[in-house]
Amino acid sequence: MHDYPGIVRSRLPDVGTTIFTVISREAAECGALNLAQGFPDFTAEPALFDAVTQHMHAGRNQYSPMTGQPALRQAIADKMSAVYAARYDADAEITVTAGATQAVYTAITALAGPGDEVIIFEPAFDSYLPGIRLAGATPVFVRLQAPHFRPDWEAVERAITPRTRLIITNTPHNPTGSTWTLDDQRQLAALCERHDILVISDEVYEHIVFDGAAHASACRLPELARRTLVVSSFGKTFHVTGWKVGFVCAPAALSVEFRRVHQFNVFAVNTPCQLGLADYMQHAARYLQLGAFYQKKRDAFRAALQGSAFELLACSGTYFQLARHEAIAREGDQAFVRRLMREAGVASIPVSAFYHDAHDPGLVRFCFAKSDALLEQACERLRRF
Ligand code: GLN
Repeated sequence: MHDYPGIVRSRLPDVGTTIFTVISREAAECGALNLAQGFPDFTAEPALFDAVTQHMHAGRNQYSPMTGQPALRQAIADKMSAVYAARYDADAEITVTAGATQAVYTAITALAGPGDEVIIFEPAFDSYLPGIRLAGATPVFVRLQAPHFRPDWEAVERAITPRTRLIITNTPHNPTGSTWTLDDQRQLAALCERHDILVISDEVYEHIVFDGAAHASACRLPELARRTLVVSSFGKTFHVTGWKVGFVCAPAALSVEFRRVHQFNVFAVNTPCQLGLADYMQHAARYLQLGAFYQKKRDAFRAALQGSAFELLACSGTYFQLARHEAIAREGDQAFVRRLMREAGVASIPVSAFYHDAHDPGLVRFCFAKSDALLEQACERLRRF
């Protein structure tokens, strides 16, 4: 190793490798069942692969338009209209991205800079904060309180200053599995209206909501949609997290700013996947049944953990289940997760990883986007622990 004093000045000196990568590596090393990183261990339908490979073999392998394939943007526009009654123009208001992480990063870069404050709710998905820092903007944290993790709108209002430019929201919420109601979105809309703030709404788990609830997308309220970039992804919806294809729906003026950065950030997203996804999306049942599919897994997972030492928190969306481990040990969640991995052979994510100050609410996150057999085996180990 060489040192280059004075030449390498880290833009993110306090940041290590993401917790998902670290724990997945450790889980593989010690042969633990991986309920840590959020990705399914089962496959998508062959029809999706057929659609993509057909386009590949038909020679559609060159650059896509910078904003995304027209067929996919139209399919997204149709879906947003059918599911949320939200009207987005496929040409001017929808952009295909290389996954939602890129979309959020690009949106922050496009809209916030030095002197601007950006509000995030903690626990927060771990990519938001570095995005804000790299943009030179100032993060402002509003804490969501266990066990329900609902936003306290008075606390949000107190966090707003004349410099507040952006609020990043996320429902259904990673890592807590909580969901906002339309009433929450109404409160957000009123605040943003009053203080003239823009919103990045991370909705990648939009089709994973439970117990008959409808997803409270920001785009369902016109007064909120006009100042919001709605970010979503196909990875969660179609069990293809490795394809890294997502999208942003935003009013034309915001989409123009988003695209100014996007074109130099990724330029365009891979062509055959976009075309295959456009074909596959034509059957709405393929995403509308996702909530019922994961609700079964949630229920089975929770039932199988009855009688374990974990106290399970409510889960109304996403494929994540929070569990309180304080009844078992008070060693801190990072140490607990390592011990659980070593002694029980089950990997999870320490929730302190979702706080800028490593606040430890005594919780771990399990991902239940796994085959029934793997979940059963993991639960058996967790019950014995
Ligand atoms: N969204 C996934 C999770 O929360 C992981 C994404 C990632 O590894 N960057 O586990």
